[in-house]
Amino acid sequence: LSSVMASIELMQKGVAGELAKMQQTVMGIAYNSAVQMLDMINALLDVSRLESGRMPVNQRATALRPLIEHATESLSSLANEQRVKISFSLPAQLPLVHADGELIMRVIQNLLGNALKFSGRSSSITLRAEASLPDSAKTAPITISVADQGIGIAPQDQEKIFAKFSQVGERRGGTGLGLTFCKLVVEAHGGRIWVQSTPGQGSTFFFTLPTT
Ligand code: ADP
Repeated sequence: LSSVMASIELMQKGVAGELAKMQQTVMGIAYNSAVQMLDMINALLDVSRLESGRMPVNQRATALRPLIEHATESLSSLANEQRVKISFSLPAQLPLVHADGELIMRVIQNLLGNALKFSGRSSSITLRAEASLPDSAKTAPITISVADQGIGIAPQDQEKIFAKFSQVGERRGGTGLGLTFCKLVVEAHGGRIWVQSTPGQGSTFFFTLPTT
């Protein structure tokens, strides 16, 4: 696939002769399809690595705020294009989580990406983090949530969407693997992920992480 992409890039640069406008367009389509296929292969590999317990999960004391900010920055141009406002509600003092920062950032990126994909223009998305009510454990886990005002998910589909390849309602591209990845990562941390949603009004995805 890398060699397919490199070859297309060479063509686009005119190495095999100057391309006409239409030929450039066709090469652009081929390149984007190759990128999509690469994304799908990587998503499949990540999910199988997690399922077989072979994904390294390096849990250490991690600050949540930079992860949330970084994930948001990476999607900010898409959000600007759609005129979607992303806001935060994070307590000033957030305890450190016991987590693999790289994997958790990808979970947040996936949830934010979905929130953007299934929201209309000029809506808003809110990211929250709060300490869950103290339970019997010594350190209460933190709950992180991503709330959108998008199309929502029917009650009978709210469990299904975490299964591999599951896509419900309107198709808007993607692989149906993003939420499976999120669930496997969160569960590898001993956490839980779930959704609350009202069709036509929006969805909020929640997940928990252990604190240090
Ligand atoms: P993908 O986004 O690639 O289709 P996911 O596993 O991330 O795969 O999501 C699975 C399905 O769950 C989506 O196709 C969509 O039907 C539904 N979904 C996920 N997030 C949202 C959301 N924020 N609002 C509405 N539907 C959603």
